[in-house]
Amino acid sequence: MKLLRVFAVVCGLALSAAALDREAFTFTQYDLDARVEPTQQRLAVRGRLTLRNDSKLPQKNFPLQISGSLNWLAIQADGKPVQYLTQDYTSDIDHTGTLSEAIVTLSREVPPGGTVALDVRYEGVVPQDATRLTRINVPQEVAKHSDWDLISKKSTAVRGVGYVTWYPVALAAASLSDGNAVFDALARWKAREESAEFTATITNLEAEGGDASLFLCNGRTQAAQTEQVIRASAASVECRFSPLGTAVPLFVLGEYKEVARASSSVSYLPGHENAAQVYAAAAEKTLPFVTEWLGAPAATTVVVDLADAQAAPYESGRLLLTPVTNATPALAEVAMVHQLAHAAFSSPRPWIAEGTAHFLQAAYRARRDGHQAGLEFMEMHRLGIVEAEKSLETSRKQDPTSDSLLSSAREEFYRSKAMYVWWMLNDMLGDAVIKKALAAYRAEQDNNPAYLQHLLEAQSKRDLQTFFEDWVYNDRGLPDFRVESVFPRQTLRGGYLVTVTVENLGDAGAEVPVTIGFEGGELTHRLEVKAKSKNSIRFDAASFPTGALVNDGSVPESNLGNNVLRDAQ
Ligand SMILES: [Zn+2]
Repeated sequence: MKLLRVFAVVCGLALSAAALDREAFTFTQYDLDARVEPTQQRLAVRGRLTLRNDSKLPQKNFPLQISGSLNWLAIQADGKPVQYLTQDYTSDIDHTGTLSEAIVTLSREVPPGGTVALDVRYEGVVPQDATRLTRINVPQEVAKHSDWDLISKKSTAVRGVGYVTWYPVALAAASLSDGNAVFDALARWKAREESAEFTATITNLEAEGGDASLFLCNGRTQAAQTEQVIRASAASVECRFSPLGTAVPLFVLGEYKEVARASSSVSYLPGHENAAQVYAAAAEKTLPFVTEWLGAPAATTVVVDLADAQAAPYESGRLLLTPVTNATPALAEVAMVHQLAHAAFSSPRPWIAEGTAHFLQAAYRARRDGHQAGLEFMEMHRLGIVEAEKSLETSRKQDPTSDSLLSSAREEFYRSKAMYVWWMLNDMLGDAVIKKALAAYRAEQDNNPAYLQHLLEAQSKRDLQTFFEDWVYNDRGLPDFRVESVFPRQTLRGGYLVTVTVENLGDAGAEVPVTIGFEGGELTHRLEVKAKSKNSIRFDAASFPTGALVNDGSVPESNLGNNVLRDAQ
């Protein structure tokens, strides 16, 4: 009854939604007590939030949003109930495609920089839901393996913002049918919340004495550089992020058993022991490779099984959520290289943390299956980068720094493009230099964008300014190489001096391999071709050249259709 009354009063106020700045407040502190009842799929949360007005205007109204399958029960400010209006707010940041939004009206205005402490209560269910995907015509069969989060008796796995809004947020609506809108909204949220303090105690109300089910969540404290995985075989687990950084708080609960090795812990669901052993063996096998590059991991890598055998894997620091039954030994090794890299090395910069982890996967493929296999691993990522660069052509011209590797929240960049950047640096400088620079790297000292460039320059004695300007500090798009001419001249000894001229039509320069073929062999040299320019290189060939090829796939390029010239002049 009371709720209804508040409802009526608020509706009477005819709050102007247009005037509401949904992103005015930053959530600076979360203190949550969450209770889970797996058989009912229920989640009930009480908590205290601190919000700071980061807008330029005093604010009296603001939204609090939770997943569409949860409901608001109570909101108090400074110990007193506040007026609030609840509504369904369509937004694809949540798996249901809808947020339960409470628009709070305070009795006083919060000045810019001012804070307000709120006590909140909400509850509901968290079933599996892929509405946000199916309503844009993603087939249900595909969508459910992407939005796999749920609370259930069999297994519970719930990721936070961007998946299931199990803790309150405030974000302007974003639709998956609107290009990168959801992606950009989440990137804005993470940037705003980077310094937030987040603590959640999650309790399984159905846990019985001696219950062996595993409870797990993620966290990060200042003392530990890498993200932590908090596990408990008990009724409750506490996840603390101090600060939140760009992490997505998540929790997992289920009848897990564990295969524990020196380098890994693999938690698996009933019947999956053999598959779990495959991952554990893969971690053991790839540990020496990762250690050779990054030093020995300070902590184990953690793999947690997902019940859906086709679920898309998800990573959070050194934690990997994946159906363990999905991998062959060869695939598990490549996956474990990535997670061991996170356990061994961390950086506050996503392009460095993720770039090195993806690069090591490619390098591992090259080591195990040959150089070409490493290039093929990277090629799988190239089209994604090309598409992203295409979509940014206009904005890049206005501000080349907005999607630089330093600042981009796009996975195609901080993962895929960054992987190529590390591969190119390794080609240019050699692995000994990269290993020494990575060994000298200290996450806590990386306060200056040029910190890594200087470490690499100190080890290599090479000037890397142009390379970093083109690839790291700015988004200049990708190079586009073409072989302009192959010019052979017979030498006195009967061989040929072959001059190959390469043009780079793109706005980013790179050092790229150039190969000529001739009867009985081929030769490869490296050539630096700056943005929008040409450069030539000479080869001593034993016989008349049959043609030239620029770029073996080690440099990401927008167009591979013009890289071969068959006719020598
Ligand atoms: Zn990663």
